[in-house]
Parts: sequence; C-alpha cells; structure tokens
Amino acid sequence: MPIPKKTGDIIIIGGGPAGLISGRTAVSKGVSVIVIEEHDVIGFPTHCAGLLSIKGLKQIGVHPDRAFIQNVVSDATFHSPSGLAFKVRGKGKQAYVVDRKAFDNYLTEQASEAGVNLKLGFQARSLVFGDKHVIGVTGKNGGKILAKVVIDAEGSSCKLLHMYKFNAPKRESFLSAMQFEVSGVEVNANSVEIFLGEKFAPGFFAWIIPTGESSARVGLAGRGINVHQRLYHFARNQFDKFNITAKRGGHVYVGAPSRKTYGDGFLVVGDAAGQIKPTTGGGVIFGGICAQFCGETAAEAVNNDDSSARFLQVYERRWKNSMGRELEIMLLARKIMDKLTDEAMDEIFKTIIDYNLHEEIEEHGHIDFQSKVLFRLLLHPSSLRIMWQIIKSLL
Ligand SMILES: Cc1cc2nc3c(=O)[nH]c(=O)nc-3n(C[C@H](O)[C@H](O)[C@H](O)COP(=O)(O)OP(=O)(O)OC[C@H]3O[C@@H](n4cnc5c(N)ncnc54)[C@H](O)[C@@H]3O)c2cc1C
Repeated sequence: MPIPKKTGDIIIIGGGPAGLISGRTAVSKGVSVIVIEEHDVIGFPTHCAGLLSIKGLKQIGVHPDRAFIQNVVSDATFHSPSGLAFKVRGKGKQAYVVDRKAFDNYLTEQASEAGVNLKLGFQARSLVFGDKHVIGVTGKNGGKILAKVVIDAEGSSCKLLHMYKFNAPKRESFLSAMQFEVSGVEVNANSVEIFLGEKFAPGFFAWIIPTGESSARVGLAGRGINVHQRLYHFARNQFDKFNITAKRGGHVYVGAPSRKTYGDGFLVVGDAAGQIKPTTGGGVIFGGICAQFCGETAAEAVNNDDSSARFLQVYERRWKNSMGRELEIMLLARKIMDKLTDEAMDEIFKTIIDYNLHEEIEEHGHIDFQSKVLFRLLLHPSSLRIMWQIIKSLL
C-alpha cells in the first residue's frame, strides 16, 4: 500500500535505549524521526543495575565515556545457597557499571546530534489507525502526531500493546525486583557477586555490583517473595555496615521474546518486545542490537514507500537471525534453573569446583551470547553429574 504524506516519517514511542538507538539508526538512513517520551527528563526513573558488557556496548555503537561509566569489572563470583563459591576471572576488563540516567542521556545526545527530534513530556495515549494501518499516536490532550511508521519502544509496561491486544511479553514472566544503592561497604571493586538459589531469590538471583571502592548496587528479583524485606535481610547478612542512598523497585523479565513484533505501519522493539536475556534479565544490549535492525527496517519502509506488515516483517527476520536461537537456549537454561532445589544447586556448585569448570567458563563464556558456554558445559565429562541433579530436581 503506498504511504500517504504525514507529519513525520517515523514516530518512536519511548526515549529509552531501544527507542533512542532505533531513532539514531533510522535518521542515518535519511528519514525524519520524532522520539516521544512521557517524562520531562530522559532516564528517570531508573530501575537498572547498569551492568553492560564491553563487547555489547561496541555492538550497539556506543563508545565508552566517563560521562556514564562508574566502574569497570573483570570478574564474577558465584555463590551457592550453602556458601560454596567459584570465581570466573575475565581476561581483562569485561563489563562497565554504568549510571543509567547518564547513559540514557548520552544516547539522547547521540540521537539528537544524528538529527532525531525529541519531544519530552508527551505521552502516547492511543494509536491512530487508517484502515488497519497504524498511522500515528494521540497524546494526553488529544493532539496527534502522524507518521509513516510507528515504533513502539515503550519498555516493559507495554500499556499500548495490551490496549490493542498486540503480542506483548507475558505478564507472568515478570518478576518483582528491588535494588538498593549502598555506600560505606566493603566490596571487591573488580568483581560482580551473584547469589543463586531459593534461599536468596526463588526464580532468579541476588547481586552485588560494585559502583566504586566502597559503594555498590545490591539487588534481587524473585517469585512469590517480599523483595524489599528479602533484600534488606540479604544486605544485612552481606555487609557489616551499609548506608542506603537510594531504593528502586522494578520488574525483571525472564520469559520468551514476543511471537510477533511487526504489523501494518508498526514495529515493536526492546523490553516491549521481550528482547531480554532470560538468564539475567539484561535487556540494554539485546534491545539495542534489535533497535538497530528496527531503525534500519523502518527507514527502508519509508524510503521504499511501503510500510505494510509484509515489508516490515524483515525486521523480525533480522533480529531473530541474530539472536533468536540464543534467546531460546537461554530460556531453556532459565527454566531448568527455576526447577533446581537448593540442594541440587549446591551439588552443581560442587561439580563445577571439583572439575574446575570455571576455567571452561573463563575460556568460552560471553556475558551476552551465552549458548556457546552452555553447550561446552553440556559436553563436558562432568555434565552427567549436573544432569542427574537437574533430573532429580525435575522429578
Ligand atoms: C532491577 C533491574 C535491573 C536491571 N539490570 C540490568 C542490567 O544490569 N543490564 C541490562 O542490560 N539490563 C538491565 N535491566 C533491564 C533494562 O533496564 C531494560 O532491558 C532496558 O531499560 C530496556 O530498554 P527499553 O528502551 O526497551 O525500555 P525502557 O528503558 O523502559 O524505556 C522505555 C521508555 O518509554 C517511555 N514510555 C513508556 N510508555 C510511553 C508512552 N505511552 N508514551 C511516551 N513514552 C512512554 C518510558 O517512560 C521509558 O522512558 C534491569 C532491569 C531491572 C528491573
């Protein structure tokens, strides 16, 4: 269907990483882009732990910058329910701990410099349809912005997607999360600490991410628990003393990506499309990679004068080719981990320590694309012991 002339080429709902990266990519292909953000400032409120892999950041076209980097880490220490631990030592620096507000502002500057038009304090209340084609959004006071392609990057709230019964990440796959910013604590500034098992966080894990020599983000997410109470208890056990400088709640997604992420004149990206690692709940890098495909496809639709679902479906092919299998494997790993009892988790830790499996992880591990190391562990001679623990837990 030929596209009628409208007020802008592309409208993006949401000024988070997925929206801003989609916008930056699309304008680089010579089209006009408006990003609308419901808040008056970018990056607020923030819920994120801010751990981003160095390789991942490169993949989403972001140069490391002091403006948003708080710390750099190379190691991760994993803790079992009974107190067993193993450390994975990265070969050099592996991840940045970022201030998400500053990071999102950095992405905003990148997008604005590229030519994206940002409209703050504009909340999309509904979509505008022409036939069955999405052709714009309506704001709070009934004001409309029309476009040739609308990109939904509204994040995990997915209000618009639910309103129109469009595919959205499953509500039951969101876990409640709580995070404290703490100061005056003793931490290893070079290492992230992960605590696995029901004892800490049923269905997920607890984390300590150092933001400096004596400060950290400590958090957990889980199913069927009072996350605030559980986190307070966890922090008291981990630190002799600590000052809480900020508290933030949120929802971590551990489910599958959405089955359909395109429609007539419409694309969905980032958390709104469930493009999140189900093992860790991290969505900035995967959402950012998909956002590049999304911006590229939207711009091609405008340049080819065709924003039909048939044309836009190439976006879904592109992002699924890039990470569809990864997401499936990580989802399977998440489902298995959810079934493990604390005893099984301890036995698996024992196996990892006995067989020095952390060396395998050091050699083949990747913070974002985790399937390779999961396969390596599966093929390892010790995997029978691990499988047995999994089967016992499943039974
Ligand atoms: C506790 C916690 C810890 C996390 N830690 C990490 C981590 O360490 N690393 C990592 O990679 N990921 C982490 N994540 C996930 C990460 O925060 C998200 O994956 C990421 O923010 C998704 O980006 P997005 O652009 O899709 O959505 P968002 O960042 O949520 O941005 C969506 C934007 O859309 C705006 N919006 C919504 N509706 C409308 C509307 N109708 N009109 C206009 N604007 C609208 C919102 O205000 C928001 O600014 C964590 C999440 C939680 C909850």
